[in-house]
Amino acid sequence: MSGLRLVHMLDELGRVTDEPGRLTRTFLSPGMKRANALVGGWMREAGLAVREDDTGNLIGRLESTPGTKTLLLGSHLDTVRNAGRFDGALGVVLPIVALAQLKRRGVTLPFAVEVLGFSEEEAVRFTGAYLGSKAYTGRLRPADLKLSDARGNTLRAVIEEHSGRRYTPPKPAHKRSDLLGYVEVHIEQGPVLENRKLAVGVVSAIASQTRGRLIFRGRAGHAGTTPMALRRDALAGAAEFVLLAEKYASARAPLVATVGTINVPSGAANVIPGETVVSLDVRHPNDAACRRALTQLIGSARKIARRRGLTVGWQPTMQHQATPCSPALTAALARSVKAVQGKSLSLVSGAGHDGVVMSALTPIAMLFVRCRDGLSHHPDEYASPKDLAVALRVMVDFLQRLSADYTDERG
Ligand SMILES: [Zn+2]
Repeated sequence: MSGLRLVHMLDELGRVTDEPGRLTRTFLSPGMKRANALVGGWMREAGLAVREDDTGNLIGRLESTPGTKTLLLGSHLDTVRNAGRFDGALGVVLPIVALAQLKRRGVTLPFAVEVLGFSEEEAVRFTGAYLGSKAYTGRLRPADLKLSDARGNTLRAVIEEHSGRRYTPPKPAHKRSDLLGYVEVHIEQGPVLENRKLAVGVVSAIASQTRGRLIFRGRAGHAGTTPMALRRDALAGAAEFVLLAEKYASARAPLVATVGTINVPSGAANVIPGETVVSLDVRHPNDAACRRALTQLIGSARKIARRRGLTVGWQPTMQHQATPCSPALTAALARSVKAVQGKSLSLVSGAGHDGVVMSALTPIAMLFVRCRDGLSHHPDEYASPKDLAVALRVMVDFLQRLSADYTDERG
């Protein structure tokens, strides 16, 4: 019953967009304002007190007895361009439906709950991702406010235009000691749950990510007059590396390594490639393992280059440390998954989430929901009503078990 309500709410929210015919909502856009109004209304119906901060984060709070801690539940309400309707939205709407269900049953929780709809996670309007959760956790820096959008508006100007007052990045919304943790429900955006035939799974960590470019240099030459033995072909060296990286990571799960782009500057059909640039993206739930894999892959690239009379250089472009989930919160979530689904599965998130930023403030846990073909950031993104109902039951069960634990602890 509530599962169906959740499906209808996600459908309705999925129609709130800045672009006719497709779903796009970016930081403080008209669509985001309408989304906050819609979701804020649902929060009020569920008995939450609703406010919005200067950066457009939507915050619904369910009070409890004074002096009790607060559990944070949420995700982001912004989207990529031409998005699906589950990414982010699910993690905001599902907790509201769960709290409404508990309210109908007359269950009161022994701790306060805050449902958070972050205003920016996808880095579409401004290049810095996680602006919403950064503002909420007091991690927005003066330098971030100088970021500008495609029209040249700075982040500061956009925030001040929205709030109507001068913006000073705030302190964290809570003291660490006042919080129980942050739990985010999100579609998996990958194929593991589908492959294991499970509706939901529990995230153990958000993977460490390193990205950069390898530049292979050889010697350009005439494709007709240079004998094979006298060539120093940069692209052939890069090609050897692409297959080596695939083989290397395949033998070391949960490591993943991807060459996503190959570029031959001034390449031509009748010229031996003198230079080739490939991207390399390496991810692992453990920072040290990620660094070790990267060092070994670069070492292998050098060996390939030496044997072929080439040189190779490495230019790092991005590095995110791994974010481990809280063992205690994760175990509690897994207990509920087991109760509802029969068994639990632990999986690593290869993608970043608001939880990365929230982990600086409080312990985090994440529940992943199966999505069809692992597809996300696409209008065909789909999670079945049945799977959504399972996720909802897990959340309701989790809140009730956490209540019992919390009451026991406080004696
Ligand atoms: Zn997301």
